[in-house]
Amino acid sequence: MQGPQDTMQYSVSDSELSLKVTAKIRSLYDAQLRLQHNIQPLPLGTDIANTVKYFSQTLLSVLKDVPRSPLEMLRDADNDGERMGLYPNLDYKSLFNALSGLVDSTPHLQYGTLPFGQAILQCLGCLLPFLEYDMIDNLPFLVAYCVAMFPVALHQEILHLLSYYILPFTITRKYAGMEEESQASQSVAAIIMMVFQHSNNPAHHCQLLECLMSMKQWVVKDILCVIAYGTWGARLSAAKLLFYYWPPFDAKLFDRKGLLCKFSNDLVPFLCQRDMCPNAGTAEAAKVCYDHCISVTFASDSPPPLYLCIECANEIHREHPNQRFFDILHPQQQVSMVCENKNCRSTDKAAYSICFSNECASYNGNHPIRYCQQCHGNRHNSRRGGDHVVHTRLPLAWQMDSDMQTNLVEAIISLLKEAKPINMEDPDSSTEQLKPPLSVDLPDPISVEDRQLLGRYGVWLMVGLCTPNPDTPDEILGRLLSVLFHWFHVTSFSYTG
Ligand SMILES: [Zn+2]
Ligand SMILES: [Zn+2]
Ligand SMILES: [Zn+2]
Ligand SMILES: [Zn+2]
Repeated sequence: MQGPQDTMQYSVSDSELSLKVTAKIRSLYDAQLRLQHNIQPLPLGTDIANTVKYFSQTLLSVLKDVPRSPLEMLRDADNDGERMGLYPNLDYKSLFNALSGLVDSTPHLQYGTLPFGQAILQCLGCLLPFLEYDMIDNLPFLVAYCVAMFPVALHQEILHLLSYYILPFTITRKYAGMEEESQASQSVAAIIMMVFQHSNNPAHHCQLLECLMSMKQWVVKDILCVIAYGTWGARLSAAKLLFYYWPPFDAKLFDRKGLLCKFSNDLVPFLCQRDMCPNAGTAEAAKVCYDHCISVTFASDSPPPLYLCIECANEIHREHPNQRFFDILHPQQQVSMVCENKNCRSTDKAAYSICFSNECASYNGNHPIRYCQQCHGNRHNSRRGGDHVVHTRLPLAWQMDSDMQTNLVEAIISLLKEAKPINMEDPDSSTEQLKPPLSVDLPDPISVEDRQLLGRYGVWLMVGLCTPNPDTPDEILGRLLSVLFHWFHVTSFSYTG
């Protein structure tokens, strides 16, 4: 046994704790069974929430006494064995599975969905440092899936949990000897689809994407994947945000003013998490401290790390002078079409890249910063900035790797297929007598304006990135041409009438 013996949880021995935890996990499984098979009396959301809160408190009090930094160790899978060795031997895996089962049974719950959901979200955050690799990889998608299962009132909490507690410690985890990205990173397209489909608040879409853009270099590949294969709601949002965030590959091709839909104005700021914050509930978090002990001490219900307003960060720093407090990245404020480097000397100031790394963001009030091609080269080269997460203009299709090229071509095809004639039957659709006798006319879920916009996005991507050259594979050229002809064919009816 390690750690001081004076806290409440350590006054019982590890084996007693383990017995208690096992019994409580069993009660969660029991509640889930009752919910799924509708066995009376149905458990109440508030009762389940209280059991789940017991786990959060237990996990946090165990964490507080851990001698090394679990969050630091999480970053590299090589440390997993050592990290798990720091904790008492509890059945973390069964707890994870029980929580995951409860998320699934949310629709069967009659009362108390709100406290139920809140308790599960908090516990998933607290459980992360205790998980082994397969569950770490599954956690981001499980949390994103809560957007589909939990009430709308919890969506903002889910997005904050993902952006500040889950994604930063899972997506970028290193696995020794693996050149490929982690499974968590491979699940990013599915996470985007889930959130874009089930949250209808565009600010949530922006928050998720900016968070991912700050840590995943080729997230544009995932965005193209969503445009290509996602449901219509996810596709529409992904296409709009691709043109919103990525510096234009050809500024002459389109006028962005008309393109930029209103986004992100209603982003809900993430606030200082300190229990006794003097600005309670109003001050935006600006600093982060990764020390788990400091975190549990000053925010007794939140998982680490600890997010603080400036005032609290200064105060805690005075008491704990050797703790480090890092700047956190703030959301992008407006889309600049030109270089944001105040000392830019370039003659062509058109935006070429956007950098999300703290070093570059510090020149822009800790907001992501856009650079022209020349400044981009000065800030990111073999001597400096090589590890920055930067997103540049999209390259030509023929310069993309084959996965991304496939996603781009499929995205263009899916966008051009959305075009529909206005005030007219689809010229391809069958005549009345060929329709099935029991067809129902559902209203079109996509507005006419959005359909036209999607078609235009598709044309821009095709014209801007897919100009054929002698090496262009015939089958890709054939597919692009056929969908382009289809688009002309359908839209010609919209403009002649
Ligand atoms: Zn504060
Ligand atoms: Zn510049
Ligand atoms: Zn940079
Ligand atoms: Zn056609």
